[in-house]
Amino acid sequence: MLDTQSLKVLSQALEKLDSGFRNLPEFQAQGGDAEQLAIVLGAVAEKLQDNFPYFHPLYAGQMLKPPHAIARLAYALAMYINPNNHALDGGRATSALEKEAVAEIAAMFGWTEFLGHLCGGGTMANLEALWVAGQIHPGKKILANEQAHYTHKRISSVLQLEFEAVPCDERGKMELSALEIRAKKGDVGTVVATLGTTATGSVDPLVGILELGKRYGFRVHVDTAYGGYFVLASNLAGSAKQAFENAHRADSIVVDPHKHGLQPYGCGCVLFRDPAVGKLYKHESPYTYFSSVELHLGEISLECSRPGAAAAALWATQKLLPLVRNGEFAKGLEAGREAALQLYGRLLKDSRFEPAFEPELDIVVFLPREESREKTSIRSRNIFAAAARRDLHLAVAELPVRFWNNAAFANPSSTETVTCLRSVLMKPEHLEWLEPIWDRLLKADNETSSALA
Ligand SMILES: *Cc1c(COP(=O)(O)O)cnc(C)c1O
Repeated sequence: MLDTQSLKVLSQALEKLDSGFRNLPEFQAQGGDAEQLAIVLGAVAEKLQDNFPYFHPLYAGQMLKPPHAIARLAYALAMYINPNNHALDGGRATSALEKEAVAEIAAMFGWTEFLGHLCGGGTMANLEALWVAGQIHPGKKILANEQAHYTHKRISSVLQLEFEAVPCDERGKMELSALEIRAKKGDVGTVVATLGTTATGSVDPLVGILELGKRYGFRVHVDTAYGGYFVLASNLAGSAKQAFENAHRADSIVVDPHKHGLQPYGCGCVLFRDPAVGKLYKHESPYTYFSSVELHLGEISLECSRPGAAAAALWATQKLLPLVRNGEFAKGLEAGREAALQLYGRLLKDSRFEPAFEPELDIVVFLPREESREKTSIRSRNIFAAAARRDLHLAVAELPVRFWNNAAFANPSSTETVTCLRSVLMKPEHLEWLEPIWDRLLKADNETSSALA
């Protein structure tokens, strides 16, 4: 099932790369004895078997999907050079690829003038955005949806900025009325709008947040590490669609190519609408920059050494699958969303289950119907395990009881949670695999139905 054919393509490209250095005198590069390499690599392969099959459509649990073949190959090819995108001295070619690829991501949101770069992932990208936010509004607070990624609270603590969570509604979206009450106090520096929460794919009401931002003078940072690429999808509904259409009005945006962008881990991206924030990064390094006068990526990022290979992989992927509406890449996102809507529809019609709310992106959260919250939580875990025994991999999540209007949870408090099932249908193949997924889910449900009697 794992692609081995494309290694021939890598081999050809490697010869081409090698030919660019033909003028150099021969030397014997460190390699290693093929037999020994095979033994050790075989051991690695055996160790790696101890994983869930993230690449398979029956893996429909967490936010995991394999990189595209072109990303894998371009990354592997670049590793023979191992460029460092910290500075032009370390990665001339891949720095250029990074600038092009990042400009394409910015253009996806409608930005032609901006400042941005790649980084290790969404955590680092958000750290930079909040670091800039903290310098522009020193001493003021960072606010985010209570369902925002937990990294915002931690990053704020690293940056010694005060953080406060804003309550969400019963669909996991930030409550605008609660935000306004907070903003009136006048000590809010930045509000993080999450377009696609990690747990449920809920999209914060960005337009309302931007309006409050104007009224109360706070910055708006869009964390769309997970959801960002959905700006290209043509099958979003009402308020989610509106939020993505207005993302360009934010002060900064974070999107993770290693989540929905078909990249190997180690690829996040941060974008700032105002290129002038670049001056905040100013520093003088005596050792990194001595042979080029152009702007270095290292001068506009907090991280120093970074893999140029990540830029090569991203650039290649976007060449093969351009970031355009109605293109093949956008169609893949649309298929995942359609799969989520269809799964939601099936759950809604089936009395054995109760979905929380209609998915805004491609994440579905649901419960098995039980007579109490405690029994529901146990049953969710049992179904999760029973499904895994049938090679269907779902995820469990701990979410507010308010997300359901289930009679078994009468008068829930705002902090009460329940363990539910969660499925991220982020592979295009999930749409075609809905029937086998559903079939296994019903069998897992059936197997666990008597266990609590
Ligand atoms: C995944 C995610 C993050 C964290 O990003 P990493 O790439 O895992 O570091 C932050 N915010 C959101 C909304 C996410 O989905």
